[in-house]
Amino acid sequence: MDRVVDLIREKRDGEEITAEDFEKLISGYVRQEIHDYQMAAFLMAGYCNGFSEAEATALTSAMLACGQRLDLSDIPKPKVDKHSTGGVGDKVSLVALPIAAAAGLAVPCITSYGIGHTGGTLDKLQSIPGFRTELPVGEFKAQVAQYGLAITGPTNEMASADKRLYGLRDATGTVESPALIASSIMSRKLAEGLDGLLLDVKVGTGSLIKDRKEARKLALLMISIGRRMNLRVHALMTDMDQPLGFTVGNALEIMEASQTLQNQGPPDLAGLAVETAARMLFLAEPSRSIDSARDQAKQLLTDGSALAKLQEVITAQGGNAECLFRFELLPNATGEHIITSPREGYISRINADDIGRAAALLGAGRDHVGDTVDPAVGVILQSKVGHKVSAGSRLCALYYTDETRLPEAVQLVEDAFRLSANEPATHDLVLDLVQ
Ligand code: URA
Repeated sequence: MDRVVDLIREKRDGEEITAEDFEKLISGYVRQEIHDYQMAAFLMAGYCNGFSEAEATALTSAMLACGQRLDLSDIPKPKVDKHSTGGVGDKVSLVALPIAAAAGLAVPCITSYGIGHTGGTLDKLQSIPGFRTELPVGEFKAQVAQYGLAITGPTNEMASADKRLYGLRDATGTVESPALIASSIMSRKLAEGLDGLLLDVKVGTGSLIKDRKEARKLALLMISIGRRMNLRVHALMTDMDQPLGFTVGNALEIMEASQTLQNQGPPDLAGLAVETAARMLFLAEPSRSIDSARDQAKQLLTDGSALAKLQEVITAQGGNAECLFRFELLPNATGEHIITSPREGYISRINADDIGRAAALLGAGRDHVGDTVDPAVGVILQSKVGHKVSAGSRLCALYYTDETRLPEAVQLVEDAFRLSANEPATHDLVLDLVQ
């Protein structure tokens, strides 16, 4: 690569970028020798022209090479993690990871902030008073060894390339590229030193990739990148047409995850968390049956072991675990706006994209790189698709602390709901398993 501008032109003109050039580009960007505006132009050229599988793999390797790749061989447990491609109300990690750790897996989770209209596990965890989300490598490893689970964001030591690229993509309309999503996720997960990875590839209005065929291609791309780098990857494809559970927004989702760990959560969330944890257990021990893994996951959820694990992890990371039981310790919104049904009928659609965008407008997401999110705000649904409602009954409530963008958010949420006279057909949350 002579000059970055040559590389931008090559990508703009549809040429294939070599692995060597990706290495120079990404390492130069992490060292801050390449400017944000140049990288943004490159990403947009790639977004428009697409990246081949070889390019996606080379980009992942280049990103991986910029940070440490953990060696957890001294922890005598199978190392397995999960990651979702992003959804609305998707708090599965907060339930499934403690189940997996309670079952004896080591889960070294480097997770992410919200991106686009989707939420991120890190933002949710940051709503817990005191919880630290940038763990130094030594502390991260020690916590995985002691508790079986640690959750951090990318740092300058681990996944530093994704740390820099993530916000830039969010601010430049380049999020929804399969290769960029795959390299972001896989570079972080490969850095964890795993034996197995379970992906939850979301499909539907609330996901980054809306089309089922394209989502499947994304799953296959990440499985292939994993295979080339000796990581066993399975992918669940799951429905994201309506939000998962009832809550959307950071502190609200911590609350619902806690309710689920106390056996008082919504069945869709509890069911997907159990399936996710079971698939993680199966990846750790492929000779066992998936049914026995499901039974074990269910048992650890219902007997309180997973809740106790999350308490331990929150405390280890400096957070106040009491907030799992006393929700008033979480940030609370100051205003509530209720939306009611204009007539009787069945709810036939709750557009997850609209709900995610509304929550972001209220402050649950970011407009610019470096913006802070408002942990308290969001949406609580009262009903889900298939429920019957009467005229004037509550569909959902918006929680806010600043009224400025409330009218826009209300409009989006009202538009998200569709009512029908007849009961709509519903389908399973898990659409497919790809491996
Ligand atoms: N989740 C990630 O971790 N990265 C992306 O690019 C999109 C979703």
